[in-house]
Amino acid sequence: MRPLVLGAGPAGCAAAIVLARGGAAPVLMDRSRTPGDALCGGFLSWRTVRNLQALGVDAEGAGAVRVTRLRYFGHGEPIEAALPEPGLGLSRHALDSALRRAAIAAGAQERIDHALDVAPGRVRTRAGEHTPGAIFLASGKHDVRGQPRPRLADDPVLGCRVRLCGDPELQRVIGDAVELHCFAGGYAGIVRQENGTVNICMAVHKSRLAGAGGDLHRLFAQLAVQNPQLGRRLDHVPAHEAIQSIGAVPYGFIARETSCGLFRLGDQAAVIPSLAGEGVSIALTSGIAAASAYLRGGPEAAPAFQRRFARLVRRPVGAAALLWRVSELREHGVVAERVARLFPWLLPMAMNASRVSQPSWVTQP
Ligand SMILES: Cc1cc2nc3c(=O)[nH]c(=O)nc-3n(C[C@H](O)[C@H](O)[C@H](O)COP(=O)(O)OP(=O)(O)OC[C@H]3O[C@@H](n4cnc5c(N)ncnc54)[C@H](O)[C@@H]3O)c2cc1C
Repeated sequence: MRPLVLGAGPAGCAAAIVLARGGAAPVLMDRSRTPGDALCGGFLSWRTVRNLQALGVDAEGAGAVRVTRLRYFGHGEPIEAALPEPGLGLSRHALDSALRRAAIAAGAQERIDHALDVAPGRVRTRAGEHTPGAIFLASGKHDVRGQPRPRLADDPVLGCRVRLCGDPELQRVIGDAVELHCFAGGYAGIVRQENGTVNICMAVHKSRLAGAGGDLHRLFAQLAVQNPQLGRRLDHVPAHEAIQSIGAVPYGFIARETSCGLFRLGDQAAVIPSLAGEGVSIALTSGIAAASAYLRGGPEAAPAFQRRFARLVRRPVGAAALLWRVSELREHGVVAERVARLFPWLLPMAMNASRVSQPSWVTQP
């Protein structure tokens, strides 16, 4: 029986490519016929770049721009450092389109349908009921009934994003850097993307939004006053520009268990605090590792894969959570920035600590 990959984001497409190349003839299901433009910072880390190369997906051919530096704005003067290796800036529409094309070219069968609920061995969709040989749950930010992720935070975090095009001055200011602006209650990440666009993405606690009366434009205005460097970037956002948002991101979630035949991938396997810019890398790595485990051991391999993957991501997820916590709080942030200025090698070390490594069991089918 064909395995079913549920969700054609980075995790699902990576799994579908490896399954198809391994002769497992997967079905790749997504509710959208055209890949959307998922709310995301749009920064692809050097680990993501390597994963894409391994999958044969040409991100630079899709228009990605090279990103070679981190520019960090915290509580004192900005800190700038070279990334350990170059990353890329690319919209999720462009990335997901390239991945989906690669999965179909490898032999995955595309199916457009909306999954309603999932149980081990069974998926109910709008079109009917399926009992595939194995399920690869890759619905990402969206939980499917039957497989909820626990909500961990007292003050949940929401993501929001605005994409600006045709603003040469903002493109010049950002240059080849990914910018991180950290402030009490959240952070903003800014990076250039294909076709001259600039992506401004934020993760903020709901209490911050409540303080702005629930109005995202008012929140931007408050942040601009309190963080002048961020304010200079936000000045480029037109007053009526649509700001997209997504609620209650379960940062820190790691799936440690699953049933036989049910592989959890991507954000359904682990959610790393997004300021690390490593979520897509985790998604691709999980897809490659789960498909490889299935090709080696069949549906029964799922529980062992999930435990092993949970151990693999524990360090980067913990490191990213710690970095965010330190940079958010003024008293810790000021000390951390002084230390980072004294010992410049600490910054690349911190950037590497929040990457997911790639041991041989991930890639060997
Ligand atoms: C604010 C914010 C900023 C971020 N910035 C970055 C960044 O700069 N760099 C980075 O690497 N990561 C970043 N991330 C993380 C990254 O976006 C995720 O980790 C990544 O998208 C996970 O990929 P995925 O394939 O698991 O899920 P998704 O990308 O969410 O894809 C899921 C797919 O499943 C489909 N789907 C969902 N439900 C159903 C259903 N019921 N039936 C059928 N199909 C369904 C969707 O249509 C979609 O195509 C950020 C996250 C947030 C919240």
